[in-house]
Amino acid sequence: MKIETIRHSLAHILAYAVQELFPGTKFGIGPTIENGFYYDFDLKRSLAPEDLLKIEEKMREIIKGGFSFKKEKLSKSDSNRLFKGQPYKLELIKELPGKTVSIYQSGSFVDLCKGPHVKSTKEINPDGFKLTKIAGAYWRGSEKNPMLTRIYGVAFKTKKELDNYFKFQEEAKKRDNRILGQKLDLFHIDENIGPGLILWHPKGAILKRIIENYALEEYLRNGYQLVSTPHIAKLNLWKISGHTEFYKENMFPAFHLRELGEEEKDDYQIKPMNCPFHIAIYKQSIKSYRQLPLRYTELGTVYRYEKSGVLHGLIRVRGFTQDDAHIFCTPDQLSKELVSTLRLTFKILKTFGFKNFEVCLSTRPKKYVGTLKSWEKSTNSLKYALEKLKIPYRIDPGEGVFYGPKIDIKIKDSLGRPWQCTTIQVDFNLPKQFKAAYIDRKGKKQQPIMIHRALLGSLERFIGVLLEHYAGALPLWLSPIQIWIIPVGSRHKKYAKEVTKKLSVSETRLELKDGNETVSKKIRDGELQKIPYLLVVGDKEMKTKSVRVRSKNKDLGPMELTNFIEKVKIEIDKKEIKI
Ligand SMILES: [Zn+2]
Ligand SMILES: [Zn+2]
Repeated sequence: MKIETIRHSLAHILAYAVQELFPGTKFGIGPTIENGFYYDFDLKRSLAPEDLLKIEEKMREIIKGGFSFKKEKLSKSDSNRLFKGQPYKLELIKELPGKTVSIYQSGSFVDLCKGPHVKSTKEINPDGFKLTKIAGAYWRGSEKNPMLTRIYGVAFKTKKELDNYFKFQEEAKKRDNRILGQKLDLFHIDENIGPGLILWHPKGAILKRIIENYALEEYLRNGYQLVSTPHIAKLNLWKISGHTEFYKENMFPAFHLRELGEEEKDDYQIKPMNCPFHIAIYKQSIKSYRQLPLRYTELGTVYRYEKSGVLHGLIRVRGFTQDDAHIFCTPDQLSKELVSTLRLTFKILKTFGFKNFEVCLSTRPKKYVGTLKSWEKSTNSLKYALEKLKIPYRIDPGEGVFYGPKIDIKIKDSLGRPWQCTTIQVDFNLPKQFKAAYIDRKGKKQQPIMIHRALLGSLERFIGVLLEHYAGALPLWLSPIQIWIIPVGSRHKKYAKEVTKKLSVSETRLELKDGNETVSKKIRDGELQKIPYLLVVGDKEMKTKSVRVRSKNKDLGPMELTNFIEKVKIEIDKKEIKI
């Protein structure tokens, strides 16, 4: 039996239990959701957490009672009589197409429903579900309607699966980028500044810079050229690019400068993308086929409007920096460029310690620009590149961008959760809109193809994913602070300073912890702060010019300082991943 059928049946049972315990309740709807179900109720009083336990108990009683789900077809007038006093149900009946409605009865509870359900409530494991929370929800999601009480539950076939679900939730909570951001003092989102806008603290900003430097170094080594462009541009630019038509709901509203002076006639727009700027740089001089491919890269900060309800820590934000690039090439060069872009992508993602990916090829959406032929051609080039590198992928029909098809790569983290990061898009259209050209072998003007690619994607999101993947314990080369030096007593402070001085020559990021707290408190703090190496120095270490090394909550024993420096240098240079 499908787990959805069990979850759906449990929604009925939940409503049945509420009917028994809270007479006079009016019923909304009760669909299944990921991992469980919910039901909306108009209750006479608000619920307390202990009410959930009572309702659960009642549900178990109903499950054990072995009630069947009896289906009946009723005329609309009969069902109106049946649901008398249930305004939400009556509203639903009114809107249902056809003359009859289907209802299901189990025990003394009747609901409007199309099914399917379990045959008998006995088929449900009474220990396989749990009610998890109470929330307020407007009837049909509209603020104009009454606020109902929503009860959520999770359900699985076995108790073991249910326990695993809660364990997973617990683990995910420990890794929550919002919580880690605060604990590790990396970033915050400020009410006075605005939702979805990240303020990077010193440690977060250095982490971001380490990632940016590494990515940029790789790009420059792979034939990219660095460019830099403004955050705003005339609104008309976005009209030419098609963004005002096809991307409107993701853009902040335009603004005008008219009040500032008579000559300021144009409206401006904060950039949701970097593409038109790079095209403008491309067009600055006439290009020959010999100059192509041209690869412009920029750590471009863009702003996109997202509804405040979907914003989520670093993962969904309104302002973010992309490791963006646009490659201009001839049609003959397209496949080769896509292959090398994909190769570089996986090299970089693997350096960060990611091993598992979900790759998707997204095809033409409903709203699009360009000819069907160019869509087909670009989709085929993307397919070719994936197949050439033997990368397994699936096709996501209709999920391409308005200007072209794309490859999206989701990173799977250590809990197996997929996160959208990389995007590689082929575009036959923007070069056309902006009349970008090159002179071919025969001296004729041709239109280049453009590849948009962001390998890490949004750096904000990427850092969020790194934090969740490593539960905050980043690899040494990425850690904002790599080493703490902890003197045991005040007489060891001098040696601790000496150690710090020697280590700083190796360009590691370190802190000398010579405050008055006890050694054990400092070690505990260092571990909570996920500092990769804690070096404790006392009498013995002073005498032997060594350090006592602690890493990942383990005492690794004493090590000669010169050896430690050498070891750390190699670990950083190799960008080693230790879990
Ligand atoms: Zn049902
Ligand atoms: Zn672009």
